[in-house]
Amino acid sequence: YRAKTEDLGYHFFDTSLTNQAMFQVRLGNDLRGALNRDQLFLHYQPLIDLRTGEWIGLEALARWQHPVEGAISPTVFIPLAERTGMITSLGEWALREACQQGRTWLDANLGFGHIAVNIAAPQLAHRGFASRLRHILQESGLPPHHLELEITETSLMHFDHETIAQLREIRSMGISLAIDDFGTGYSSLRYLKELPVDALKIDRSFINGILDDHRDQAIIRAIIDMGSSLGFSVIAEGIESEAHGQAVQAYHCHRGQGFFFSRPADADTITRVLANQTASSPAFHPAYPDTR
Ligand code: C2E
Ligand code: MG
Ligand code: MG
Ligand code: MG
Repeated sequence: YRAKTEDLGYHFFDTSLTNQAMFQVRLGNDLRGALNRDQLFLHYQPLIDLRTGEWIGLEALARWQHPVEGAISPTVFIPLAERTGMITSLGEWALREACQQGRTWLDANLGFGHIAVNIAAPQLAHRGFASRLRHILQESGLPPHHLELEITETSLMHFDHETIAQLREIRSMGISLAIDDFGTGYSSLRYLKELPVDALKIDRSFINGILDDHRDQAIIRAIIDMGSSLGFSVIAEGIESEAHGQAVQAYHCHRGQGFFFSRPADADTITRVLANQTASSPAFHPAYPDTR
């Protein structure tokens, strides 16, 4: 049999394809067990007021420490979770974990603004999502205005009438909503008119070219002008240098996130920084003045 496949010339191709597929299947199975085996945890990356350097919020980012493969990127395991149907339980875990952590910080009198949690499209497609969310908030005791949900622009394409109704319900609970990776999806601008949204996050691929690419500059400026005119808070992702921060501010965007300020860090590290900040500046400014 081996000789035959080699004769046909696709033996190696066939094998590598099989290995790749088997790796995906194995990883999918491992992910299923990862939740119960404490291999998943959250890191937090600060969202910054560029004018003052103050933290206005924290984005929760999932991490997977695989016992054999080591750290696996969420750009690998989140899509895997979406394909295997794991995203609902993984997403709920992330929400619960972030809300409990937020409550812990509040109990310690540590101001953090809001926690932003990424939500995948299949989670929102579930009709029960809004009531599950309400339940998780009640269970954790985190007041809703300390929570923000990030939804990628790409996922908006799949939204139907029911999903949008759920978003309205979620927002009426006092939770804010941000569109993530803005500028990379294929959504219609009509969504910006119809969706109950508080914030736009400019995808970091644009910020990457802000210093020397005038197309990136034009797109960034257009997103900031449009977002501000519509009354949204606009946040620049991927601020990797002081020059990046100054450039987006020159376009009147005063919120940012990026390695220049801080990489995502574990909860203990964040707790230490919050404690220092609270000691030096007890008056904390919320990310969104309450306008609702
Ligand atoms: P995202 O929501 O756009 O998160 C921002 C990503 O950009 C994070 O990557 C962060 O580490 C990275 N980043 C932040 N600042 C910089 C910078 O200055 N330069 C560069 N090069 N990168 C920067 P990360 O943690 O690898 O997450 C990747 C994506 O995985 C996230 O993109 C999000 O779409 C998804 N993800 C992570 N955790 C979750 C989760 O709990 N649920 C869902 N549904 N998706 C998640
Ligand atoms: Mg995000
Ligand atoms: Mg993003
Ligand atoms: Mg992204």
